[in-house]
Amino acid sequence: MALTITLYIFSALAGLAIGSFLNVVIYRLPKGTFFSKARSFCPNCGAPIKAYDNIPVISYLILKGKCRNCHASISPRYPLIEALNCILWVVNFAVYGISWMTIIYDILVSVLIVVAMIDFDTFEIPDSSNVTILLLGLITFFPISGVSWQSKLIGCVCISVPLFIIALFGGMGLGDVKLFFVLGLLFGWQKVLVIFLISVVIGAVASLIFMAVRKRNEGEETLEDGQSAEDENVSADALEENISDKADLSQAKLTVDGQAEEDKAAGTETVAESAQSEEFGDNSQSIDGAQNDEDAEEGEDDVPSKAIPFGPFIALATLITVYLGDLIIKGYTNLIF
Ligand SMILES: [Zn+2]
Repeated sequence: MALTITLYIFSALAGLAIGSFLNVVIYRLPKGTFFSKARSFCPNCGAPIKAYDNIPVISYLILKGKCRNCHASISPRYPLIEALNCILWVVNFAVYGISWMTIIYDILVSVLIVVAMIDFDTFEIPDSSNVTILLLGLITFFPISGVSWQSKLIGCVCISVPLFIIALFGGMGLGDVKLFFVLGLLFGWQKVLVIFLISVVIGAVASLIFMAVRKRNEGEETLEDGQSAEDENVSADALEENISDKADLSQAKLTVDGQAEEDKAAGTETVAESAQSEEFGDNSQSIDGAQNDEDAEEGEDDVPSKAIPFGPFIALATLITVYLGDLIIKGYTNLIF
């Protein structure tokens, strides 16, 4: 009993500390400055963050979300990521107890947070995160996960190969393909299939919400400005009914799908509006801006700034599968047979 309580507390504290480290990874990895020895600094004024101001979550609350030096707002995503990683590590211990799979899943959920956030910021899934999951997949060839090697080998290819073919024709990032390859290796074909299906459903729902929100925002802007081209007004009018329908639909789905979806929708909105946002310390802003510049240079027809990154949905679907995968597979087979 005492040991269990100690391990719960250890999971929580280690989860917080690693969550803090994940923020650094998410911020530095896309910039290629991951191995720089520079200490964390305020993105607004450049003042180094002192150790006593760098306590996960708590420092944010004490400083009321502002830099001690320049009082610029610090993005709430830093403490949120720390808290999320902490919660998931505690849940892992609650579900998988004292076992190798707790450690495997601790590493996995932390990597998934990085994948989701970096893909959200930059529309890229870093290879290093895929390699980490690949290593987890290889380690679990030792019989600790209950997944047979045959299932693992089929899992590698059953989703990734069809997606790779789709990727050849565009419309799918290679990062997503590699992610499904390594997830298949870790989970085996049954669960990677579940991950794929859940991610597609979540992705479709989120896309509907995203499009509805964007169209409504555009509609409002045209109405407010009153100076846009006529054809835009026409299309705005024509779409108005559609929009309100979709808005209702998305509203309904929000309540059905719960908090996670709501967060997601809010997050997407933030990206759409980040160009206008003047909040300091939000590193998605600068990265997003850089991304837009790149797109302009490349001049490609698929404009990522208007697309939705798929990585966050894969990450969320994988989390659901880590905790509910067995239940989902059992329920599904009961339904069929
Ligand atoms: Zn500052």
